[in-house]
Amino acid sequence: MRIAIIGAGYSGMSAAWDLRKAGHDVIVYESADYVGGLASGFKEPGWKWSVEKFYHHWFASDQHMLGLIQELGLSDKVIFPRPYTVMYHDGKFFPLDSVIKAILFPGLGWGLNKIRFGLVGLYLRLTTNWRELEKYTVDEWMRKWTGDKVYEMMWEPLVIGKFGVNYYKQVNMAWMWARLHARTTRLGTFEGGFQAFADQFAGKLREAGVEIRLSTPVSNIQKVVGSDEFQLTTSTGIEMADKVLVTLAPAAMASMVPCLPAEYLEGLSKLKSMGAVVLTLSLKHQLSREGYYWYSIPKSAGFPFLALVEHTNYVSPENFGGEHIVYIGDYLEPDHEYFQMSQSEILERFLPSLKKFNPDFEPAWINKVWMYRTAYAQPVATVNHSQNIPSIETPVDGLYFASMSQVYPWDRGTNFAVEIGRKAASLMLRKR
Ligand SMILES: Cc1cc2nc3c(=O)[nH]c(=O)nc-3n(C[C@H](O)[C@H](O)[C@H](O)COP(=O)(O)OP(=O)(O)OC[C@H]3O[C@@H](n4cnc5c(N)ncnc54)[C@H](O)[C@@H]3O)c2cc1C
Repeated sequence: MRIAIIGAGYSGMSAAWDLRKAGHDVIVYESADYVGGLASGFKEPGWKWSVEKFYHHWFASDQHMLGLIQELGLSDKVIFPRPYTVMYHDGKFFPLDSVIKAILFPGLGWGLNKIRFGLVGLYLRLTTNWRELEKYTVDEWMRKWTGDKVYEMMWEPLVIGKFGVNYYKQVNMAWMWARLHARTTRLGTFEGGFQAFADQFAGKLREAGVEIRLSTPVSNIQKVVGSDEFQLTTSTGIEMADKVLVTLAPAAMASMVPCLPAEYLEGLSKLKSMGAVVLTLSLKHQLSREGYYWYSIPKSAGFPFLALVEHTNYVSPENFGGEHIVYIGDYLEPDHEYFQMSQSEILERFLPSLKKFNPDFEPAWINKVWMYRTAYAQPVATVNHSQNIPSIETPVDGLYFASMSQVYPWDRGTNFAVEIGRKAASLMLRKR
């Protein structure tokens, strides 16, 4: 069987791995000139490692990703340094990634609030009944069970930060549950960076006989009338396939396959998502305190961004020729002004806040700046979202769809891209 996969991100590459192992001819079409999709990275000439365009790490619980890496024989390249995630309170940052740290966090005061915070956290860690939780918004469930003060101090900033003022009251409680239930404080990466892993994965796919066609966007997919075959319009010409898997955003799927039934297209159009804007700075000096990696910042604290991530407090600056790498990012609706502003305009907005992380910071510390933006970064899961998820098997026989928007109840991530890609592959094999 000749199988076409659209997209060489982790879902597309993982599906390709299983389909090729099952003996099929697999061609992966990728519009970019590199593999890895949203989790790809870039590298300067003097660097040993790549830096991700959007900050990335794995959790110790990412069994699908870590299992795949083991299958590929690359487990010895996975490392789990121990950085700290810190949260802003009253002008200072406090570590907040373990029960003990949460108990010591001054924002909650002492007494009942801490007990409610602890008990709710424990419940969410232990329960598996997310179907009950998806009936409620985070806002209503958390206010009820932790109380307004704990919610507004600990959880509301996270939800507002991720989903903005328009969506944060609509996000369902299963989304929050999934983050607390599945994530670990141990954070992992690949020696050489995520791009090094994506390239080695692509190398293994090619060795196995998968054809990966870079710089080859697909613009249209049609079922040939009176045949089971598909006709793909690619930038290099028309291609035929017996089965097709699309791994793009729902809007891209809808415009690429106009022959999908109206009901399925309508389902795709209802899926909402947030975009992301990330500036990466190479600095001459360390910006923030040793070991502090991830800074969560409530929007209400007046910072023009949501998170600051000092990558070289997690992996050594020696990997980047001694340069210190800092990401500054935000999740925003795709019509936000940051999607129109130039890199220097955004940098101008962000720079004054860097003194809050280090009063000695001067713009002269900056070696270089990069900006990456994507309109499709974080799907929004509203109440009873399980009923809105489009099926991987589309109503068009032989056509499959596996995207971040179908990852649920878990929050999207490369681990779940691997899982959904492999699930799509097993469905494609079953229908054979
Ligand atoms: C800001 C941010 C932070 C994140 N942090 C983490 C993290 O810490 N850990 C983690 O595990 N995950 C993280 N993620 C999520 C992770 O990046 C995604 O879940 C994962 O990469 C999605 O993989 P995918 O294969 O589903 O999609 P994608 O990676 O989007 O792959 C789709 C591919 O299709 C290609 N394509 C698009 N249009 C066409 C076309 N017309 N023809 C051919 N090809 C096309 C694209 O170029 C892309 O390569 C983060 C994401 C963002 C945005």
